[in-house]
Amino acid sequence: MKKIKEVAGNNTSDLVEMNRSAIVRILQQMDVCSRADIAKMTGLTQASITKIVAVLIEMGIVTEVGFVKGNGNRRSIGLRLNAEQNLVIGVKFSRHLFSIGVFDISGKIYTQQETEFSLEEVALDVVADMKRQIHELLNKYENVVAIGFAVPGPYLRKIGRIAMVTRMPSWQSINFINEFKYEFDKPVFIEQDANAGALAEWWFGNHGRPLNSLAYFLAGEGIGSGIVDNDRLLLGNLGIASEVGHISIDVNGPTCECGNKGCLEMYCSTTAMLKKAEEMLPGFSEKDFDNRLDACKKVFSEAREGNKEAVKLVEKIAEYLGYGCVTLINAYDPEIIVIGDIISQGKELLLPTINRIVKERVLPEISSKVQIKISELPVDPTLYGAAAIATDKVLRKPSEYLVK
Ligand SMILES: [Zn+2]
Repeated sequence: MKKIKEVAGNNTSDLVEMNRSAIVRILQQMDVCSRADIAKMTGLTQASITKIVAVLIEMGIVTEVGFVKGNGNRRSIGLRLNAEQNLVIGVKFSRHLFSIGVFDISGKIYTQQETEFSLEEVALDVVADMKRQIHELLNKYENVVAIGFAVPGPYLRKIGRIAMVTRMPSWQSINFINEFKYEFDKPVFIEQDANAGALAEWWFGNHGRPLNSLAYFLAGEGIGSGIVDNDRLLLGNLGIASEVGHISIDVNGPTCECGNKGCLEMYCSTTAMLKKAEEMLPGFSEKDFDNRLDACKKVFSEAREGNKEAVKLVEKIAEYLGYGCVTLINAYDPEIIVIGDIISQGKELLLPTINRIVKERVLPEISSKVQIKISELPVDPTLYGAAAIATDKVLRKPSEYLVK
């Protein structure tokens, strides 16, 4: 008989692991804290905390470090996660390049390398190169506990294939699970880029705690979003939940590759922005730039310098991002929306318009409770997200994955 997830029970061993995970996850966020702090945050009794922490220390997952200030003037022993002994490899795969980084589970980066490829290259050759580079890093860094992959959406996570990638159809035949899951002697976890970004903000973003829900709004070559709700990534049945880039904002608009009409992605992705720039800014041509990031940065710098047409163009993009935020708020009710990827380079040029649209179009009682921010992660959110995918998994099962 099929086990129904929602009503499946928890065995005692599952509960023990859940409590260990709760403590480990708090330590990942807090850097150093006392047993009493953890008791307050988890609702577990002091006696339970003492017992679980003793095991985590014995396993080498947690260490005692000096004293922290406790209640009143009392000093308590500080606890911290042995993050540097637990490394993860993050792999970001996108339309023109893949990047691989080695991080620890606190988000500290150790190394990062990028490889560009062209859409004409044979997909399997690119895959072989990725595997070779990952093997090299595994030989060099012995404490890697897991590998996370961030791939463009919509990614069918149970099947392992990207359902549709604008402008790169040859990659649709690549099955990421078959290619990577069994290639290394480390666990491999794969999610789509926007979900990866959401986890990067969740684990490594500095948004204050406790946070209950977060939406990551990916605005780059594609438009997408990732939602963390109640401490969990929202996946849906196939893994394509929260694909806001393909929500129709004009039912009679131009036909999108996905089959829908007037998809949000057609109005505020880098493709849309650069097409508009070529129409509106005299002499502007995407071809004059090495890549889309540089081309978009040029548009933003023109706007900052007061070029009226560039200002108008950026404002239009911001309006569409605003419509995207309205949809995110109405659909997922997040506490915070973090906008990331190439378009977020517009930073202060975008936020006033986005906030205005949200204020105009969402009930005040709701809009006043949502904070909209631009990502401030020090590393590319998708690559960071690939590391966060692996981090998220290992922190949920510390006894299974973390170095003992
Ligand atoms: Zn579409």
